[in-house]
Amino acid sequence: MYHSAVYNEPLLKELVGIKKESISPINSIPKNLQKTKIDDIPNLDETQVIRHFHHLSQMNYGVDSGIYPLGSCTMKYNPRLCEQIASWDKFSNTHPFQDYSTAQGNLQIMFELERMLCEITGMDFFCLQPAAGAHGEFLGLLLTRAYHDYNKDYERNEVILPDTSHGTNPASVSMAGYKTIEIPSTNEGTVDLDVLEKTLSNKTACFMLTNPNTLGIFESEILKISKLVHKAGSLLYYDGANMNAIMGKVRPGDMGFDIVHLNLHKTFSTPHGGGGPGSGPVGVNIKLEKFLPIPRIAKTKDCTFVLDYDAPDSIGKIKGFYGNFSVLLKAYVYILMMGYDGLREVSETAVLNSNYMKKKILDKKRYEMPYANLRKHEFVLSCEKLKQIKDVRAMDVAKRLLDYGFHPPTVYFPLIVKEALMIEPTESESKDDLNRYINALIKIADENPETLKNAPNNCPVMRVDDVGATKNPILTWNMV
Ligand SMILES: *Cc1c(COP(=O)(O)O)cnc(C)c1O
Repeated sequence: MYHSAVYNEPLLKELVGIKKESISPINSIPKNLQKTKIDDIPNLDETQVIRHFHHLSQMNYGVDSGIYPLGSCTMKYNPRLCEQIASWDKFSNTHPFQDYSTAQGNLQIMFELERMLCEITGMDFFCLQPAAGAHGEFLGLLLTRAYHDYNKDYERNEVILPDTSHGTNPASVSMAGYKTIEIPSTNEGTVDLDVLEKTLSNKTACFMLTNPNTLGIFESEILKISKLVHKAGSLLYYDGANMNAIMGKVRPGDMGFDIVHLNLHKTFSTPHGGGGPGSGPVGVNIKLEKFLPIPRIAKTKDCTFVLDYDAPDSIGKIKGFYGNFSVLLKAYVYILMMGYDGLREVSETAVLNSNYMKKKILDKKRYEMPYANLRKHEFVLSCEKLKQIKDVRAMDVAKRLLDYGFHPPTVYFPLIVKEALMIEPTESESKDDLNRYINALIKIADENPETLKNAPNNCPVMRVDDVGATKNPILTWNMV
């Protein structure tokens, strides 16, 4: 507004109808918006200001502060090299509108990243456009619809999900105009083949599955599941949020999945949790290729990279431009750094860390772990016994962990575990850090219930009214 006042007098005149001669920075502010008295603005020197903002920055907690075992979110270390390269001028100054002949390097990186993701997942083609996992799910379901429509199979309007599925799955199903059919898991926490078989029909468009599932259990009957799903004429969708558990070990493409999304910001190391930017590329097998969004990145015979819009059966565009390039670039650097064997080691270490914690915690018998014992990169504890004995809930334990200086796990998910604490330590944590977290969890279980119910006690913000904040959001700050 200040600049428009100084440099664009005619516009200002038109906007607020004030006389030209009265235009000066202060007079250009309409009378009714001018302050008549100065509020109580603190009078601070530079040192005090620096300390204030430094203190604020220290109040945040991130993966660089300590263990952050937020189950399903894969909060792992993000190598600084990836950040450095993503901030290079040559990358950060490219513009999506510039001619592609001047952005050949960027296109080559995206082209090669697509091939790498195909290799890691066992899929045939990838689209890098979706901005998050949920966006990838939505794309996957649009591809599902395009596929069935192409085959004149118009009756299929149902998508089946297990009761362990992530909340974004049914949300994406609705957004894509399908109906969600939820099926219960077995006592082992896995897909019930009998129930699945009975639920599949000529109305089923797709079965969406996370493997390992959100309990951290690998669906070992996946080949049978794939057979059943395909026999019914349905497609099989892989929610790849848990890819950190199986890289270099098994591939969704080899398990029979037709569509896969990856969460690059989770598995392939981009800082996340603050709302983006993220990236949820979608891989498909050959029968779905022609429906993929445009433009596709192609390589011509003379090794030029181009954006190819020539795809008559494509569902169209799913995002402005070509995806979140900086996240793609970080994933590319990360994969090159790690190599295929390195990625396998990541998964093996993530699974080892999770099982180490699980065993140590269960041995102390303060928390239970319903369903099968064998877990991959995460496990879900239940505080049900604590609730019954001491009226202490999962949320109380989570809040008390803040007092110990730790980030809590995911709580109350998946829904089939009562009073759930979903712990995913990732490969980044040392044994010492795992032990400290284990000890805190055990100690908390033995504490006085009142201490837990009032927690956190040592944090800048005490127990917040999260339901109130959701139902009555106040999104502005009023200076009095
Ligand atoms: C995180 C997650 C998603 C959604 O991914 P976003 O990138 O957050 O949109 C979907 N499914 C599972 C199992 C997840 O953990």
